[in-house]
Amino acid sequence: MVHTRSIREIDKIARSCQIVADTLIFLESYVVDGACVSDLDQMAEEFIRSRGARPAFKGYMGFPATLCVSIDDAVVHGIPGKEILKDGQIVGIDCGAELDGYYGDHARSFAVGTIDVAKQKLLDVTRESLANGIEQAVPGNYVGDIGNAVQCHAENNGFSVVRELVGHGIGTELHEEPQIPNYGNAKQGYQLRSGMCIAIEPMINAGGKEVYTATDGWTILTKDGKPSAHFEHTVAITDSGPKILSVGSNG
Ligand code: MG
Ligand code: MG
Repeated sequence: MVHTRSIREIDKIARSCQIVADTLIFLESYVVDGACVSDLDQMAEEFIRSRGARPAFKGYMGFPATLCVSIDDAVVHGIPGKEILKDGQIVGIDCGAELDGYYGDHARSFAVGTIDVAKQKLLDVTRESLANGIEQAVPGNYVGDIGNAVQCHAENNGFSVVRELVGHGIGTELHEEPQIPNYGNAKQGYQLRSGMCIAIEPMINAGGKEVYTATDGWTILTKDGKPSAHFEHTVAITDSGPKILSVGSNG
């Protein structure tokens, strides 16, 4: 079932989203050469709990941590461990929070120190793909309009779109219907209505679109070993247009 949320409910989702956005803003200055990934995870958990919320990923389907931390050829769902970040890496950090029964979900890919031109382009294009997808999140459009916008921008820049993982509805569950693929045809799929809240989250690969799951059972990696980037916003579909909910409390 696809939910449409009241203004009061969207406000609650927005509060959880804001905590997640503030968490990533807080973490940003610690995503540096020499940082230990599990320290970032602990800092994020403490930050979320200090705001009265709960880390939404911890315990979800057995996931052991607050953050998904995915370095270079890891697409998403990396388990934060004892790895040390190194200059030149790109690192996707995905985070969720639950407050008062409502969920927020948000991800960004960060540069560690100085990255090469190819990785910078991958980050820029993935961020732009998300923005193009969000632009399509208006009442009367279709899920396929979002996916098509993401896919066209990524592929026009020589990159590829992961098929196995998709965005999703969000609200009183972390993952709700409908699925929001990052590929597809315009004017196809579920029709969007005012009040729907969705997480749009392009996962864009520098090389081929094929991925596999690591032996830890979680981490998704590119088959060709080339880097991948991930940006995600939780968005409310409103009569006045798409409203990005995962923004920090300072705007
Ligand atoms: Mg996420
Ligand atoms: Mg998500």
